Amino acid sequence: MDSWFQTEQIDENTFVISEEKHWEQTHCYLLLGSKKALLIDTGLGVANIKKVAELITDLPIEVVTTHIHWDHIGGHKYFDFIYVHEAEVEWLAQFPVPRSVVVSNLLKYPCEFPADFRAEDYNIYHGKPSVILVDDSKIDIGNRSIRVVHTPGHSPGHICLYEEERQYLYTGDLVYEGCLYAFYPTTDPVLFMKSIKKVKQLPVQRLLPAHHSLQIPVTLLEEIDNGFEQIMSAGKLAQGNGIFDFQYFKIHI
Ligand SMILES: [Zn+2]
Ligand SMILES: [Zn+2]
Repeated sequence: MDSWFQTEQIDENTFVISEEKHWEQTHCYLLLGSKKALLIDTGLGVANIKKVAELITDLPIEVVTTHIHWDHIGGHKYFDFIYVHEAEVEWLAQFPVPRSVVVSNLLKYPCEFPADFRAEDYNIYHGKPSVILVDDSKIDIGNRSIRVVHTPGHSPGHICLYEEERQYLYTGDLVYEGCLYAFYPTTDPVLFMKSIKKVKQLPVQRLLPAHHSLQIPVTLLEEIDNGFEQIMSAGKLAQGNGIFDFQYFKIHI
């Protein structure tokens, strides 16, 4: 077992594979259906996540991407079948940020990387998707259906994944406890706020974020919505206005 990853079981057929040693504290989710398994994101790509997933299941594994940021596609190289939203297909072919910037982010804070990891060999994944997703696309893995909810703002093709039966919302980088990012040129704070309002309409029992704490209350959605409302009321919902600090999260625009 590769000690780089931590695995936790959420329910009988749902697992989370985390990279807690790294400052990004990424979480990827492995959903088991009756016919196949679905891995939501693949993390940093500094160790082989497929090996860890294959310890959990013998089913064929497909990968769905919440968005094409380097910390969510690192392990795509280990898989053949990849879903991506239509707005980020080009980014999968050619990542818009230089490799040097990505590597300096990866190494930003001291971290005990796997022994065989070499930063100088780190490459950003590029490839072609097997399936292109749009809003409301469904992914059926056999007796288990996962719905795509297009939630732009953090990135143009960002998606959340929703399971109606379990009322799980896999939120990617739209919702987590920590600093929410809408300040890069490719982000859009107004769309980010709209996307929060969109997912707030869904009946949700559990939020499953891509970073940081796994135990976040569903009320965080309401709190983030309120945060954006406050920023908007102050006439500051535009890029360049800095970091707004709320109790459990920050919004950087
Ligand atoms: Zn991101
Ligand atoms: Zn991220």
